[in-house]
Amino acid sequence: SAGAREIGALTPMMRQYLEVKALNPDAILFFRLGDFYEMFFEDAVRASELLQITLTARAKNAEKVPMAGVPYHSARRYITRLVEHGLKVAICEQVDEPGAGPGIVRREVTRVITPGMVLDEEALEPRASNFLAAVYPGAEGFGAALLEASTGEFFSLEADTTQELVEALARVEPRELLVPEGHRDSPETALVVSRLSRAPAVAELEKAAFEPARAAAFLRGHFAVQSLEAFGLQDAPLATGAAGAALRYLKDTQKTDAAHVDRLSRQQRGGHLLMDESSRANLEVLRTLRDGGRKGSLLGVLDRTATGLGARKLARWLGAPLCSRPEITARLDAVEELSQRSVWREELTGALKEVGDIERLCGRLSLGAGNARDLRGLAVSLAQLPRLAAVLARCEAGLLKALGGPLGALPELTELLLRAVVDEPPATLKEGNFIRPGFHAELDKLVALATQGKDYLLVLETREKERTGISSLKVRYNRVFGYYLEVTKSNLHLVPADYIRKQTMAGAERFITPELKEYEEKVLTADEQRGTLELELFEQLRAQVVKEAPRLRSAAEAVATADALLSLARCAAEYGYVRPVVDDSEVLSITGGRHPVVERMLGAGEAFVPNDVKMDSGESQILIITGPNMAGKSTVMRQVALTVLMAQVGSFVPASAARIGLCDRIFTRVGAADNLARGQSTFMVEMTETSHILHHATRRSLVVLDEIGRGTSTYDGLSIAWAVAEHLHDKSGARTLFATHYHELVDLAREKPRVKNLCIAVREQGGKVLFLRKLVPGGANRSYGIEVARLAGLPPEVVARARDILQNLESGEFDDNGKPRLARRGSRSSAPAPGQLGLFGGGGPKLEPAQQKVLESLKATKVDEL
Ligand code: ADP
Repeated sequence: SAGAREIGALTPMMRQYLEVKALNPDAILFFRLGDFYEMFFEDAVRASELLQITLTARAKNAEKVPMAGVPYHSARRYITRLVEHGLKVAICEQVDEPGAGPGIVRREVTRVITPGMVLDEEALEPRASNFLAAVYPGAEGFGAALLEASTGEFFSLEADTTQELVEALARVEPRELLVPEGHRDSPETALVVSRLSRAPAVAELEKAAFEPARAAAFLRGHFAVQSLEAFGLQDAPLATGAAGAALRYLKDTQKTDAAHVDRLSRQQRGGHLLMDESSRANLEVLRTLRDGGRKGSLLGVLDRTATGLGARKLARWLGAPLCSRPEITARLDAVEELSQRSVWREELTGALKEVGDIERLCGRLSLGAGNARDLRGLAVSLAQLPRLAAVLARCEAGLLKALGGPLGALPELTELLLRAVVDEPPATLKEGNFIRPGFHAELDKLVALATQGKDYLLVLETREKERTGISSLKVRYNRVFGYYLEVTKSNLHLVPADYIRKQTMAGAERFITPELKEYEEKVLTADEQRGTLELELFEQLRAQVVKEAPRLRSAAEAVATADALLSLARCAAEYGYVRPVVDDSEVLSITGGRHPVVERMLGAGEAFVPNDVKMDSGESQILIITGPNMAGKSTVMRQVALTVLMAQVGSFVPASAARIGLCDRIFTRVGAADNLARGQSTFMVEMTETSHILHHATRRSLVVLDEIGRGTSTYDGLSIAWAVAEHLHDKSGARTLFATHYHELVDLAREKPRVKNLCIAVREQGGKVLFLRKLVPGGANRSYGIEVARLAGLPPEVVARARDILQNLESGEFDDNGKPRLARRGSRSSAPAPGQLGLFGGGGPKLEPAQQKVLESLKATKVDEL
């Protein structure tokens, strides 16, 4: 770095800085100097740009060092902003009291804040989890560990392919990816990052930390267990390596024993409805494609939770819908019961509103980062639990009933914290005065002593005023001199002989007396002892909390579950959802179905038109949906996918009736615009995703294909779309929704028994297109393109000419150029049936130059943009 070569010439302070910086090369170093955190060199340049703070220079030995600083008391804000930019921040504090010894103050990095390691309540989004994902690539797959530092949640898993890995990670949307040293810029890492719709920051940790044997030993030590069998890790070296690295990273960056991380569970494959990340993104389950926000996503509609705990739980559920009928039924039972009891819902909500983030409060206190406000917050939250338990005890649904136990398990801790901590504790422990009077006799005594002392000083002031006749005389206090008497210049002649002069100011002089010092001693000693004792009491209370951490976590889990179920019940009741029948059939039948998000976004006066969709692997396996642009094709397909997802989460669904045969996986292939940023051609992405679907779809999968083949020429596109549909019909048997503008595909239904045609009804009225939004059997009116052109105001003669040409084309010679021939309208003749467009008319009819011109202009018309 810029200063390294000059190290000998630098001041001791700068030398210290560079030593610390060398240990934390990948972090922005916040170096504590008095009331500021200072940054130097490249850090200063970078931070000044990102934070919009002034870049100055520290001139030393004629060499200027770039420097930028932020005040200590407002540092949080700046740290948060840097971390949001994906950077790490190392906090270097003074670890000795100033003036403790000769030489410069000792400084050490006390914490490193990284995107995945945020514990500060202000920097954490209350309604979102903040996961670190450690990924350990092996020869035949990956190990991964997911760790939420603020709550202590800790999972590990193994994945065979990048795809599988991404699916597992995407469920929790990690903020930071930890990889072994040397892997930060590997193509594999880049691939994983690019596939996640919310790109995480990437960090490295030394390879040794991932090494399975070492990691296993480290984990055994942390959890104090003989073997990792209980965590399901006995024969999972990659998962073990990743878990070990994740935990080490937490301990190293936070300089903590991470006591709150007291469990680790292995996520088994299966068990969840699988959804690749692009499907999750396309269906806008957790966030919208447009701005990545929650508003406008499925989560945005369904999240009516009252607590951050509940919001995170619900997001987790939507990220990982279930595949097992008993689990889904249990949730549906709970949602049903609560949806019918509006009074209970209100009672539960009332109690939940008072419950804070027990999980994160507990996490902070376990990490030694909490303060008295956290204890009070915990106390107030815990005090609500009996109220919640009382309502839940009345419920019939097994899932709700079972929550009563963990909610009622902490009466002693609740009582202790309520008794110990005042209603409104100060922000920092240093300020003291957070223990409630009456809690501790010794403390009460010290407080009395300090207060009496202070009262006495007031008496002393009044008495001295009378004795000296100086009416402006004041007893004051500062840190350097302690208590003193201040006399203004004009009264100095009245000062008695027993006053001892201490300091001369501009307009006044400061004195002490032996008596004043004696009382000062008493007050300060009592104050100091009080402070020390309060801190001791705080530590004892904290220890109590940490001791109860497992039960606190169970209680938090119960609160989260109750809140998430309540949220689903509220939606069910208020949005007119219905309980779906979920079974093992291959049926997917939705009557009067609506799109959960679109129906909420419609303005006043607009009504969502419900639609029926009935599918069955054995009968109507593939639905080909045709219709003009803007008719509502994607909406209806998405609503089917979202309805399945909701049902498998255990939610009621937007329909008047629904029967869902369990799906193992949802695949979607829709608009490729979002993939452009990845630098692949749209068509390539489309084909890659389609290929993935064809390889993986099973008879139990739901496949949603929107305008497949659009990214290439018409004939290519149609051929591909046709072949894909055939393959899905003949090979996988997956229930498929297939929207297309190639109305030729309609003919597939004649060849394949399980293909059915649907189209979206449109009516023309008073020269305007009226979208009826109604899904009806049959193919779309195929001359629609010319109709749209006419409505768009293309001159009548052009429209008329276009009709002629269309007719010409349709009855024209059909030259097949050796390409495969598609059977049409039941016939295998090479000539298209009347009224049908020639498919592979490579030669086509010979056009006159004028006709050709019209054709060109029609071709150039972007119907989508009219
Ligand atoms: P397509 O995929 O056919 O081009 P979309 O599905 O994007 O059409 O629908 C176009 C617009 O029509 C959507 O933005 C939506 O607001 C509206 N829409 C779609 N279906 C319905 C419906 N059933 N009821 C009311 N509005 C709808």
